[in-house]
Amino acid sequence: MTPAELKALVRTIPDFPKTGIQFRDITTLIGHGEGFAATVEWLGERVAGASAIAGMEARGFIFGAAVAARLGLPFLPIRKPGKLPCDTIGVDYELEYGLDRLEMDPSAVTNGQPVAIVDDLLATGGTASAATKLLRQAGAEVALAAFVIDLPDLGGGNLLRANGVEVHALMEFE
Ligand code: 5GP
Repeated sequence: MTPAELKALVRTIPDFPKTGIQFRDITTLIGHGEGFAATVEWLGERVAGASAIAGMEARGFIFGAAVAARLGLPFLPIRKPGKLPCDTIGVDYELEYGLDRLEMDPSAVTNGQPVAIVDDLLATGGTASAATKLLRQAGAEVALAAFVIDLPDLGGGNLLRANGVEVHALMEFE
């Protein structure tokens, strides 16, 4: 399937989760078997060289775990606070309103291990930058990130590139 055909499988929900936001809903994309497979294949080709895939809760788990399994690589869940049962490290990061936090198991990566980030959507880049910081704290080398959707007007790609991360996105929305 072409990127344009895959883009047509993303549903746009106006005013979700609040008025004025056009939510790009990937459930219709993953609900299409051929489309899901083509998306995972595309993402997998963009993270060549990584020896583990990290994905952020929750939609990053869907694509990240599928990419990792397809490539036969370990999957590393980056979670919301208090979810992991083991010892964790965490980073706090700013949202539009307030703070959020991501956590991971620091023993899941070895020093210098090349880890790629996979998530559904790149907006301001706050989430992916926090994940990059966290993975680097654990000793990983983070040089690649692949997203299904980029919203380039929000500047996330530039933020990640400024942090030394190569960014790939299958499709863009304004
Ligand atoms: P950022 O941190 O780059 O501003 O926002 C990206 C994060 O917010 C991603 O983890 C993504 O799952 C979520 N997100 C924000 N807006 C949307 C949207 O319109 N659709 C989807 N599927 N996720 C979104």
